[in-house]
Amino acid sequence: MTDQPTTSAQGSSPETSAAAAGARRLLIIGAPGAGKGTQAGRIADALSIPAISTGDIFRANVSQETELGKLAKSYMDKGEYVPDSVTNDMVRSRLSEEDARDGFLLDGYPRTLDQVEALDGILEDGGEGGVDAVLMLEVDYDAVIQRLVARGAEQGRSDDTEETIRRRLEVYAEQTTPLVDVYERRGILHRVNGMRSIDEVTEELLSVLGAR
Ligand code: AMP
Repeated sequence: MTDQPTTSAQGSSPETSAAAAGARRLLIIGAPGAGKGTQAGRIADALSIPAISTGDIFRANVSQETELGKLAKSYMDKGEYVPDSVTNDMVRSRLSEEDARDGFLLDGYPRTLDQVEALDGILEDGGEGGVDAVLMLEVDYDAVIQRLVARGAEQGRSDDTEETIRRRLEVYAEQTTPLVDVYERRGILHRVNGMRSIDEVTEELLSVLGAR
């Protein structure tokens, strides 16, 4: 184990404490079914930051039958992305909440290049600096189709039917994979093999973040 930053920063100056607190503005990206939600919850708990899932916020709006929910559902059920303007406004408002002030783990956002730009703008406006680290879960597409079909049957998610899953993977490949290059060029992308056990993936993610 190297001497990675920890959350305790005894006797250090405010600057070094901030550095020692490690990366706290985090993103997790990966194909549908890669395990983002599961890992996001675990990592966020370990770092005491909120996990913010745009998919969960949309689903909550769908079940509460809000206007946003009605609009989102029409896209979600087809496996398409909700329009950027709607999604960006929703994230801007969520990130302005108190609990996200000292860090957050965004799960499922950004998903398009337009959203990357919007997030950069949101963080700049908040004066918080940019994204610290992007965790990318790499998975095998055939395996995730099976995982998602199983999840659809268990949880009754209306967008987890085989046809919608295939469309979601296509949309991911077309619109979200270009983000990998963007964050790689910024030097903040960390690729992690998402095909191992849930615990092994969590351990690796925490170690990448210097939290283990
Ligand atoms: P998820 O739970 O992250 O797989 O998201 C479920 C669905 O919500 C997606 O298939 C999209 O229809 C919608 N959604 C979630 N996040 C976004 C986003 N960042 N941009 C556009 N649509 C999104």
